[in-house]
Amino acid sequence: MDYLDNDFKKIAACPMCNKNKTDFLYEISTGGSDDFEGNEFNRKVKAIRCKSCGFVFSNEILNDNGKTKFWKNYSSRCHEHDADAIRKRNEMYQIEYDFVSQFLRGESPRILDVGCGEGGFLDCFVGARCKGVELGEEAASKASSKYEVYQGEFPTIDFKGKFDLIIFRGTLQYFDEPKKYLMKADEILEDGGLIYITSTPNADGFCAKLFKEYFSFAVCAVAGNGFSPHVLNNFFKGLNYELCAEKYFYEGTPYCNVQDDVKKVALAIKKKEQGEKIEFRSPAFWGNMMSLVYRKK
Ligand SMILES: [Zn+2]
Repeated sequence: MDYLDNDFKKIAACPMCNKNKTDFLYEISTGGSDDFEGNEFNRKVKAIRCKSCGFVFSNEILNDNGKTKFWKNYSSRCHEHDADAIRKRNEMYQIEYDFVSQFLRGESPRILDVGCGEGGFLDCFVGARCKGVELGEEAASKASSKYEVYQGEFPTIDFKGKFDLIIFRGTLQYFDEPKKYLMKADEILEDGGLIYITSTPNADGFCAKLFKEYFSFAVCAVAGNGFSPHVLNNFFKGLNYELCAEKYFYEGTPYCNVQDDVKKVALAIKKKEQGEKIEFRSPAFWGNMMSLVYRKK
């Protein structure tokens, strides 16, 4: 896919704390590892870390033009084409459901999945009152055969009523002005309710730091936000939430192959020590992906 200058916008200040002193981390092509079409060197952006709060972000992200291009057919282009990938994702849904379900209270909790895709994760919450938000037309239309789905940008949607659980599964890295999304979630969350951030790349993880632009979930123009437990814990502490639990799923997931993964990481460490460039993608590993559960006091 070809991206043009008018598909991007510059991000000058930190999207989380608004300060503008940063450290340069790495340069990366438009879609990072999401760029399935192979036009990897289409355009370079910079991943930078806020000196003040530690948030990692891209200095340029896709604007509305660019986003429409990227997400329009994402579902059929990248998300559904591989039966094995679907099976693995379904297995992850169950693992991530089992983790959060122990914190859910009440008979039929009201659940909102922000970026629900086709509603696959919501399918795990049997007996709950499930709703979704989805930007992609294709996915939203599929999900709405099962659930009430709001198509559009989460912060601008008028929800009637509150929720007991709001889910951001593998989505927070993509949102433009992510703070607005988190504030919106706070606004529509019931007291005592949960925010579940899961399958979200950990920008402070060992592989993220070692592999940089070759981290499988590196910060790029498409996934412009590099969250970490440190940044999220501080943010939610400020809103008077408590951290119920944090987990970094790896062993026991369908993506894990400890022996092979350790060998790849060892090779990357060796290259780094020898001053060579690491030019292969990071494997699944401890600390790559985070699952955090916060409760509103
Ligand atoms: Zn900051």
